[in-house]
Amino acid sequence: MAQTNQQKLDAIMQQILDEKICSELASTATQLVFGDGNPEAELVFIGEAPGKSKDEQGMPFVGAAGKFLNQMLEMIGLKRSDVYITNIVKYRPPNNRDPYPEEKEAFLPFLQAQLKAIGPKLVVTLGRHSLNCFLPELSISQVHGQPKRKDGQVYLPLFHPAAALYNGGMRQTLIDDFAKIPAIIKLIKK
Ligand code: URA
Repeated sequence: MAQTNQQKLDAIMQQILDEKICSELASTATQLVFGDGNPEAELVFIGEAPGKSKDEQGMPFVGAAGKFLNQMLEMIGLKRSDVYITNIVKYRPPNNRDPYPEEKEAFLPFLQAQLKAIGPKLVVTLGRHSLNCFLPELSISQVHGQPKRKDGQVYLPLFHPAAALYNGGMRQTLIDDFAKIPAIIKLIKK
């Protein structure tokens, strides 16, 4: 029998554990923060790496940035359970430092496998690290809010909610870009 998307995701998560991916990072983190939400989602959000509260709760985007993300989802008539949310790097870097390039590289095949398992219409990248994982030549300040297609997948680069939270101008830009999501999804044929 064909595997469900959830079964495929469970197998990818187990592989990260079995292969001891980024074991040094794992040793300083509380747990793996693999991803959360609907395995059949049309819309997937990708952040950078878990922060403190995500590390403790094992879920992505549960702190202040997560609350802001939930509010923006509500604004477009969606709940967290309608979408899937994950990060490039799946262990919390110590003291919330930026993930190292080799950590992002180590997790990239698993992130790509997650996307293949879910098959979303639209991948929303949050912040420059996430954008540059998929579209390394683009700059977030120039392309935020503009859908980009690469290898058959549509991406929407957005500012990171944690960066925009306390910056009035960026916050409004993020809200305005976020509001375009339903119209962009409608235009995507799969
Ligand atoms: N929480 C996450 O899970 N990821 C981020 O990039 C920021 C906060």
